[in-house]
Amino acid sequence: MLETNTIVDVRATIVQTRRISSNVSIITMNCPSIASTARPGNFVNVKVNTTSQPLLRRPFSIHNVQGTLIEIMVKSIGCGTAIFSDSKEGSTVMVLGPLGNFFAITSHDFHTAILVSGGIGTAPMLFLEKTLAAQGKTVINLIGGRTKHDLLPQNLSNCRFATDDGSNGFKGTVVDLLRRDLPDIEKEGPIKLFGCGPNPMLKALAKFSMEHCIACDISLESVMGCGIGICYGCSVEINTPDEGVRTVLLCREGPVIDAKLLVV
Ligand SMILES: Cc1cc2nc3c(=O)[nH]c(=O)nc-3n(C[C@H](O)[C@H](O)[C@H](O)COP(=O)(O)OP(=O)(O)OC[C@H]3O[C@@H](n4cnc5c(N)ncnc54)[C@H](O)[C@@H]3O)c2cc1C
Repeated sequence: MLETNTIVDVRATIVQTRRISSNVSIITMNCPSIASTARPGNFVNVKVNTTSQPLLRRPFSIHNVQGTLIEIMVKSIGCGTAIFSDSKEGSTVMVLGPLGNFFAITSHDFHTAILVSGGIGTAPMLFLEKTLAAQGKTVINLIGGRTKHDLLPQNLSNCRFATDDGSNGFKGTVVDLLRRDLPDIEKEGPIKLFGCGPNPMLKALAKFSMEHCIACDISLESVMGCGIGICYGCSVEINTPDEGVRTVLLCREGPVIDAKLLVV
């Protein structure tokens, strides 16, 4: 869904830094103007320090909103995320947002939302789950990882887990788990799928949703610079029904796309 947010660039105070695994932290920031307009699926672009290393901001999904606070779930994979993960409480960062589009959740066409995620792809799911639940939707989380050690501690509810080695929950991929559980879940009413995670998982989910004719929104990632459509750093190919494969800027026409548009 494409809609223009009121984008602000604000200095936000880090209220809490909480490590939840060896390389993942939840950063809570006081950001009233972003918290009041953010929608599930939106992201923010954060200047993680005041030096030129790294020069560019880093994009992060909005993990949760509580009053004037926003939470970011950050996995340390390089220079910017390492600095952000270790942010000192009381320090400040510049935050641009809310950016991008959002999950399409206002539809009356579905009763149950199945949130399918893997790895750091669970980041946008808490905000999404809370918003869906407030609308009276039933929400089920399917969460995948290679082993039990790759499953992040979650505040999500109604979770079912899949691991490649069977060390926690279903043995297989999270899309295999969906295939197993769909017939039972479908008995409760129409479904919509929401996905975020590694590209192979999203491709498998997109194929599954098309085979079963189930609406599915997925949130994509790419390397990104400005976050507002100027630098063209986040161009990705999508598969449109009318124009065939076309290049879009993920920061503006994404990060959420209809799974049918994913080039699989
Ligand atoms: C819309 C959007 C939402 C995101 N939400 C989150 C989130 O909620 N939590 C979170 O932890 N991360 C999220 N990311 C990914 C995050 O932005 C990157 O991990 C971060 O920019 C890497 O910065 P760095 O300086 O730590 O890594 P760098 O030092 O720049 O790079 C380290 C290595 O990671 C690779 N890399 C950099 N960016 C990405 C990427 N996006 N995907 C895969 N590989 C990458 C580089 O090519 C390099 O090999 C999101 C990205 C996008 C586009």
